[in-house]
Amino acid sequence: MTKEVLSCSFCGRKKPETNLLIAGNSAHICDECIEQAHGIVLQEHKHEQQQGLDGEVMLKKPKQIKAFLDDYVIGQEQTKKVISVAVYNHYKRLLQPEDDQSIEIQKSNIIIVGQTGTGKTLMAKTIAKMLNVPLAIVDATVLTEAGYVGEDVESILTRLLQAADYDLDKAEKGIVFIDEIDKIARKSDNPSITRDVSGEGVQQALLKLLEGTVVNVPPKGGRKHPDQKFIEVNTEHILFIAGGAFDGIERHISKRLNRQAVGFSASKKQTGTDHELLSFVTPKDLKDFGLIPEIIGRLPVLTYMKPLDAEALRAILTEPKNAIIKQYIKLFEMDQIKLNFTDEALDYIVTQAVEYALGARGLRSLCETVLTDAMFDLPGSETLELEVDLDFVQRHLSPDTLNTLRAVS
Ligand code: ADP
Repeated sequence: MTKEVLSCSFCGRKKPETNLLIAGNSAHICDECIEQAHGIVLQEHKHEQQQGLDGEVMLKKPKQIKAFLDDYVIGQEQTKKVISVAVYNHYKRLLQPEDDQSIEIQKSNIIIVGQTGTGKTLMAKTIAKMLNVPLAIVDATVLTEAGYVGEDVESILTRLLQAADYDLDKAEKGIVFIDEIDKIARKSDNPSITRDVSGEGVQQALLKLLEGTVVNVPPKGGRKHPDQKFIEVNTEHILFIAGGAFDGIERHISKRLNRQAVGFSASKKQTGTDHELLSFVTPKDLKDFGLIPEIIGRLPVLTYMKPLDAEALRAILTEPKNAIIKQYIKLFEMDQIKLNFTDEALDYIVTQAVEYALGARGLRSLCETVLTDAMFDLPGSETLELEVDLDFVQRHLSPDTLNTLRAVS
């Protein structure tokens, strides 16, 4: 009986013709076929990643978008819902076939009202991460009307181009987060008073960008000048997300609610605390605060971020995918040191963050302060384990230290 020569079940090569033949349940595969298959897997993976970006296939439904946000953003349930729908609609609009323009879908630009440090930027970053699109974060306070000292609004698009490595296609489907939009509010409630260049002028300049237009953008930024080469950027498919603290907007909300409540018995909700009031924010309140109606109209999705309470801060420490504590554990792990925090230690850090009004950003400085000595001393030492307990944290967070942190936050 002749001995059967094994062969690759995919290409048919006999064992002697291959470098390696791997046996499966009832089949064999050679090294070359493995390499080819691996290539196909990589290609497919890349294709999948690009699909969202190219807008060929709608990858995620609103619920899936929210589930992604849940991994990174703690709480803010209503806002995550609203934003998931807005992002979904934005990409549906983008996918609308050229020959079906019977109903023109308006852009779903978003405006988020909420105190600083409540996760507005994080929300924009997470969406950009999910969609794998470039993100530019810009500060509205540096923008000025053309001709004044400061940055032209076009600089926003320069940033986006830079974030997209000058890939125009990518930039035109990117996201722009405009922070501190409330700082360009008209300073006076009365629009007829002298023109306010720093505020209303910038709002006017932003209008076209938000709506969708082709803008000549200086690729390296700076002021426009005659011999400069421009890149034409179409903002039609760029998603704009604006954020601002709108300090004092609660006054406008409560005034409006009380006015509405005349004749009704004002419900508990309507006379609730400031942050409860924020959930009633409407475009009218933004107008009363000093945004011009045209800007408000171009940011049709209005939502809010709740202030973070102790429970939220505690969750932020440990729960998000890249939570602060997880990051430190990883850092120590890279030196083969097992880092552990006791619950009391974490609770204490949160209590201090609340007491000294350090917010979510303060959590990081607090952890950094607690761990600096350990991060300096332990790498290369004999220690292979560090347990951070209440005593450890208290020793490293003296009232003096906490006051210093408060001063810089
Ligand atoms: P904002 O833009 O509202 O000023 P950020 O998004 O910059 O706030 O938030 C500051 C930091 O606080 C973020 O980097 C993040 O680590 C943390 N943070 C704030 N809110 C949340 C949240 N809801 N979930 C998780 N982390 C948060």
